[in-house]
Amino acid sequence: MLTVADALNAVLHRAGPLPPRRFGLAEALGCILAEDVVADRDWPPFDKALMDGYAVRTADLTEVGQTLRIGEEITAGRVPSRPLAVGEAALVMTGAPMPEGADAVVMIEQAKVGDDGLVRFDGPLIAAGKNVMPLGLEMRAGDALLRRGDRLNAARLGLLASVGKAEVLVAPRPRIAIVPTGDELVEPDQEPGPGQIRNSNGTLLQALAQGSDARAELLPIAPDEIDGLQALLKRGLAADVLLTTGGVSAGNRDLVPDSLAALGVERVFHKVRLKPGKPIWFGVGPRRDDGSPGPLVFGLPGNPVSGLVGFLLFVRPALAVLRGRETAMAPLPRYRLALGFEHKGDRPTYHPARLVAGPDGQEVEPLAWAGSSDLRTVTKADGFVVFPAGDRSYSLREQVEFLPF
Ligand code: AMP
Ligand code: MG
Repeated sequence: MLTVADALNAVLHRAGPLPPRRFGLAEALGCILAEDVVADRDWPPFDKALMDGYAVRTADLTEVGQTLRIGEEITAGRVPSRPLAVGEAALVMTGAPMPEGADAVVMIEQAKVGDDGLVRFDGPLIAAGKNVMPLGLEMRAGDALLRRGDRLNAARLGLLASVGKAEVLVAPRPRIAIVPTGDELVEPDQEPGPGQIRNSNGTLLQALAQGSDARAELLPIAPDEIDGLQALLKRGLAADVLLTTGGVSAGNRDLVPDSLAALGVERVFHKVRLKPGKPIWFGVGPRRDDGSPGPLVFGLPGNPVSGLVGFLLFVRPALAVLRGRETAMAPLPRYRLALGFEHKGDRPTYHPARLVAGPDGQEVEPLAWAGSSDLRTVTKADGFVVFPAGDRSYSLREQVEFLPF
């Protein structure tokens, strides 16, 4: 049986970045840039007033209490019609271009207009450059601002807007189709009959996919019956990634692997040495008509926590690659245990745990857990502690790996 590391390698080997596409800024939040972006012009594009006040020549104000004639008024968006004359002050508003010859702005609060129409400055003497941002201080035309691989957040989108990049080339969000399978399942808004349970995996995986900046479509529950199952799997194969849940174990109604094979999905592996989630299945769908690679297909086990662990270990890194990220296989962080722990099992185990404050920073506390169907305990967790295969007692403060949500 494959180890987690070998299985992840096999997945990443088959994952490649989706072809970049041009998007409007409103749709690009969370996307990864597929091009470098440079400044289209100097910023600010002129010497800019940073305060409402009077643009002055500091050479005119050598003593406290001096007065100047009031020249023109320059509001934001207007341009000065002439240079500032000697002995003159121009009324400027924040963001307005400075008139030629002016070298500072006196705040309006430190100026008083007298009955004689002159403006008088009683505040402290002002130094050249005060309250003025010189042309090009923040950026020069041609400066490299953002690079390919940068993830677009609010500030970066704002910067793109300021340099006129109304559309950007980004790796598109992967489209994920989710097919829950199982005759026992009813949708969350239904009352389960005898022997039935609600489909929690659909919602769980859709949320995980959205948290990875993917667009997830939740398809209807597929029955444990070949024709109905295949019809839904076929729909799901149109996406970039197909996730199924349930039906990959050894039961006689576990029809997912054979149904995927019948649809031309090539199996890469089935079963990984881990707990929970051993029955996980992974393959690659047939190439598209245009020759592009087929979808990645993950058959996740039915128990909710098994599916969650499978998603975190294999699907999330694959999505990162599809989205154009290169750092998909970073090592897991390590923390000290906040409790001694007795681990039993011949497979590496991913045990729900929460982060708590310890004497030397954050530690992880494994939670009392009823196993792979116990999603309730996972709601109190921040991730999973990894206990390697083998029975062993772990002592308080021992270092362990941690797979965060
Ligand atoms: P399976 O892998 O299909 O044998 O399912 C394993 C266990 O997970 C069974 O107890 C199922 O009832 C449960 N299960 C399967 N699919 C779901 C689902 N979508 N939501 C919640 N539990 C599920
Ligand atoms: Mg099932």
